Amino acid sequence: ASGLEFMPGEIRWLRVNTLRWSVEAAVEWFEKVGWEMFEEVDEMLAASQSKPKVFALDAHIEPLLALPASVSLPTISAYQDGRLLAQDKASCMPAWVLLSPVLADAEEGLLEEKGKGKGVRVLDATAAPGNKTTMAAALVADDRISGKVVACERDQGRFKVLKDMLKRADAKNVQPMNVDFLSLKPDDPKLKNVTHLLVDPSCSGSGIPSRLDHLIPSSPEHEHLTRIRALSNFQLAIVSHALRFAGAQRVVYSTCSVWEQEDENVVMRVLAKKEMREMGWRLAKREEVLPTWERRGRVEACGGDAELADSMVRCLPEDGTNGFFVACFVKDTDATPIEA
Ligand code: SAM
Repeated sequence: ASGLEFMPGEIRWLRVNTLRWSVEAAVEWFEKVGWEMFEEVDEMLAASQSKPKVFALDAHIEPLLALPASVSLPTISAYQDGRLLAQDKASCMPAWVLLSPVLADAEEGLLEEKGKGKGVRVLDATAAPGNKTTMAAALVADDRISGKVVACERDQGRFKVLKDMLKRADAKNVQPMNVDFLSLKPDDPKLKNVTHLLVDPSCSGSGIPSRLDHLIPSSPEHEHLTRIRALSNFQLAIVSHALRFAGAQRVVYSTCSVWEQEDENVVMRVLAKKEMREMGWRLAKREEVLPTWERRGRVEACGGDAELADSMVRCLPEDGTNGFFVACFVKDTDATPIEA
């Protein structure tokens, strides 16, 4: 659970690729080949001192398993053949926050009623290498949802990496596009049915442990401030563009930065735009964004607004993840049926 403190890098997170497997089948397989399952990640880690083959289900993200970091991935055949994918827990949060409400509606049979039946269309604005794309693809591939994903990547080299990842994950419901997301027209008739967007733009990467100081400054004192300002402006442009898509209902913004300039500040700058308020966008509240995850946005970076800060999620290595940030924008509109 998130209240616990872990040693940085002590957990190896593996996402069950539900395009090819199920969590139940994965658990059964692990147990059959001699692994012991624990209810809690900290219990699993304690047991790993004396037993090498232990795993636990994650408490926040359904298709996620935790193993001791010492595990050798090449020895796990289900990892080699793409049924399991190595993905940090924090990196799994954006697609989960974006799409778990759709899964919940599908469970309760509410999709048609809410005008979303067979109409969930995801656009990943900044997709390579494709971790979040393939997770989104897996979440919406559910028969009741029959969702599809468009994945944009501007860089040609990284676009190839994205295509390889789509192949490895067997993500057939993804249309990759080697395009600058900012060049797409939000009112393009071909994109008018996009309902959910992932925005995980380039960032300073200050949350990646190898780049973290043990003190983790909240500001980029050690970096060139102009570079961070430029990144922050770019991030604002990308997320603002995403919010202009005509059919968009939910947009998740994330970074692997721990710096406020790229995190809360970007969200605050979006919320301050009259255009965004007029379109009906608001920030999803804590109960809609991993409510049981304890580390939230920084109040002081949200102009002292504790409720707003509480709507955002932060992660640090002591949570067993990379440093990370997630916020979710929602538009409360009368649901109109979306063409498939
Ligand atoms: N979401 C990815 C994942 O989880 O695997 C990581 C995304 S990475 C942080 C940001 C990516 O966005 C980079 O591959 C970068 O080339 C791409 N990118 C940056 N600006 C872009 C733009 N305007 N349009 C499309 N892709 C862009």
